[in-house]
Amino acid sequence: MKILMVDDSRTMRNIQKNVLKTLGDPACTEAGDGLEALTCVASQPNGFDLMLVDWNMPNMDGLTFVKRLREKDKTTPVIMVTTEAEKSRIIEAIKAGVNNYVIKPFTPDSLLERVKQTLAKCNSVAA
Ligand SMILES: [Mg+2]
Repeated sequence: MKILMVDDSRTMRNIQKNVLKTLGDPACTEAGDGLEALTCVASQPNGFDLMLVDWNMPNMDGLTFVKRLREKDKTTPVIMVTTEAEKSRIIEAIKAGVNNYVIKPFTPDSLLERVKQTLAKCNSVAA
């Protein structure tokens, strides 16, 4: 499984990587902002199986990244992982095309649960 992690905090990316290790040691690609993430997407022609995307980042935020991604890629599962907890924000993100939403701080179990739920949901739609 190939996972793209987009967050301006390296610490946060490391936490996510450690949590996701339990999912059969996935190949993780990391980006520090939305622009870097777009470059990662462009240089991975076979695509990713999952993306975890922070909202607040320099250069290009996560919401803008998701909108840009969804212009070309409607199907790759995307989970927004963010401190933005307001309902209006969550709705905005869902409208932009995220498949699930995790509010920071999260427990390892809650992130893992949300990831499994998202993969199951998206794969059953694709099948
Ligand atoms: Mg951030």
